[in-house]
Amino acid sequence: MQALISVSDKTGIVEFAQALHALGIRLISTGGTAKLLADAGLPVTEVAQLTGFPEMLDGRVKTLHPKVHGGLLARRDLPEHVAALKAHGIETIDLLVVNLYPFEETVAKPGCTLEDAIENIDIGGPAMVRSAAKNWKDVGVLTDASQYAGVLEELKSSGKLSDKTRFALSVAAFNRISNYDGAISDYLSSIQEGGERTVFPAQANGRFVKLQDLRYGENPHQQAAFYRDLHPAPGSLVTAQQLQGKELSYNNIADADAAWECVKGFSETACVIVKHANPCGVATGKDAHDAYARALKTDPTSAFGGIIAFNRTVDGAAAQAVARQFVEVLMAPDFTPEALEFFKSKVNVRILRIALPPGGASDWDNGRNAMDIKRVGSGLLMQTADNREMTLGELKVVTKKQPTPAQLQDLLFAWKVAKFVKSNAIVFCKDGMTMGVGAGQMSRLDSARIASIKAQAAGLSLQGTAAASDAFFPFRDGLDVIVDAGAACVIQPGGSMRDAEVIAAADERGVAMVFSGVRHFRH
Ligand code: 5GP
Repeated sequence: MQALISVSDKTGIVEFAQALHALGIRLISTGGTAKLLADAGLPVTEVAQLTGFPEMLDGRVKTLHPKVHGGLLARRDLPEHVAALKAHGIETIDLLVVNLYPFEETVAKPGCTLEDAIENIDIGGPAMVRSAAKNWKDVGVLTDASQYAGVLEELKSSGKLSDKTRFALSVAAFNRISNYDGAISDYLSSIQEGGERTVFPAQANGRFVKLQDLRYGENPHQQAAFYRDLHPAPGSLVTAQQLQGKELSYNNIADADAAWECVKGFSETACVIVKHANPCGVATGKDAHDAYARALKTDPTSAFGGIIAFNRTVDGAAAQAVARQFVEVLMAPDFTPEALEFFKSKVNVRILRIALPPGGASDWDNGRNAMDIKRVGSGLLMQTADNREMTLGELKVVTKKQPTPAQLQDLLFAWKVAKFVKSNAIVFCKDGMTMGVGAGQMSRLDSARIASIKAQAAGLSLQGTAAASDAFFPFRDGLDVIVDAGAACVIQPGGSMRDAEVIAAADERGVAMVFSGVRHFRH
C-alpha cells in the first residue's frame, strides 16, 4: 500500500506518517513535506523521484504527472486499467493526504496583494484531491488534519478503510474543493479596476451573480447589492426586464418580490398591491382594471407609493387607473403600447415586465427545490420555500355550519393571501377581494382588530366576510374578535390544544370554520 502526502498545514503530519509507516505503508511526498518526514527519520520517496521530473516553476508543477494521477485514478476492478498501469510502470496510490495552499488565510491578511493571492492558488493539490475523491472506491483521501486519528484507528483495526469511510472522505474532499474554489471566485470577483476590493463581489459564494449595486440598503447608511441565482427559476423576479423608471431600490426589490410571488399564485386575473412587504390589497377581477380597482378599495391610503403587480397584461384601462395613484413599481407579464403611453410622462415609475412561470399559478419553483435563506449573525437559516398550495378538497369543515360554495372560494382566496402577510396574519375577504388585512402583530387579537379598524377606515363592511388566520387560535378569544368584526366563516390550520374549545365557540357564534392543516408563518 502506498500513501502520497503533500501538505501545506503540517500539523500532526509527522506522527501520522510515522503511524502509516509502522503499518507498512510506503510514503511518497512533495518537497517541503518530504524533507520534514525525512528529517524525522522516515523513509520517503520524493515525487520528483517517482515522476522523473523535478518540481518546477516555483512549485507550480509538482505532482501534475500521469505517474501520480494514473496511480490515483486507475480502477482496480478493471483489467484494462490495471494493464495500463503495468505497461507504464505506474504503481497505485491508495491513500492521499493533502491540504491546500492557504488561500483563504492569505487573502484575509490586510494588505494582501493580487500577486500574493494568485501564488496561493493551489493547482496540483486540488487536482490530486479530485482524482482521489472521484476514485473513492479504491482510494482514501484526507484533506484535513482532524481526519488523521479516525483513519488511523480504522487502518490499525482492519488493515484497510471501509467503503463507508472512503465515501465520507470523498464527500468531505469535494466539499473542501468547492469551498476553496468558492473563496478564490469570491476574492477574484471582488477585485475592481485599479486593484481595489469591493464589498460586493461580482459573484458571491460561487452561486450568485451580481445584477447591480444598489444606491443603498434598507436604510441610507447601509450598502447593498442585488444578486441573481446562477440558475434562476423561470418566472422569478430576477428575470424581470425594466422597461422604464428610476433605478430599483433595495426596498423596491424586496416588496416587488413579495407582490410578484403573491400575484403569480392566482390562476384568475389578479392584482396585488404591496406596501412594506405586506399586501395591502389583493383582488381578482373580470379584467386587469377591475382587479386593480377592487384591490385598491381595501386600503387606498396604504396603497399610496405601493408596488403593484398583475398576473395579466396591463391594458390602457388598467394603466390609466393605476397612473392616477402614486406608484413606485408596476409589474406584469406584459403591457400594451397604450398602457405604456400612460407612463411616458411619469418617468420615475419603474415598470417591470416578467414572464409568468411556464407551468402557471401552481408552478412555484419550476421543478427546482427553491430555498429560502435568512442571515442570522454569522450563520444562515435555510428552508425550502413556503410553496404549499391548498386545494378545496383538502379543507376540513369542523363546525355544524357548512360554508357555502361561494364562502369556500373566499376562504381559499383569504388563505392564499394570508400566506404572504407577515405573522400574525388575519385577512378578511369577500367575493375575491381583501376587505381588511391585519399584519405583523405580536398578538393575533391585535392583527384582527387592526384589520377591522382598517376596513372601517376604508368604508368597507366586514359583515359576512371570510377570514383567514395564518396559524391556529390558542384560545377562543381570537375567533371571537374575528366574528365580532363580522366574519361569517373562518379558515385556520387547527392543531391547537384547545381546538375543541375553539370549534365549540364557532358553533356557539353560528359561523362555519374549516381547518387547512397547514400553517403559514411568515417573518
Ligand atoms: P510541500 O510543502 O510538500 O513542498 O508542498 C505541499 C503543498 O503543495 C500542498 O499544499 C499541495 O496541495 C501542493 N501541491 C502538490 N502538488 C502541487 C502541484 O503540482 N502544483 C501546485 N501548485 N501545488 C501542489
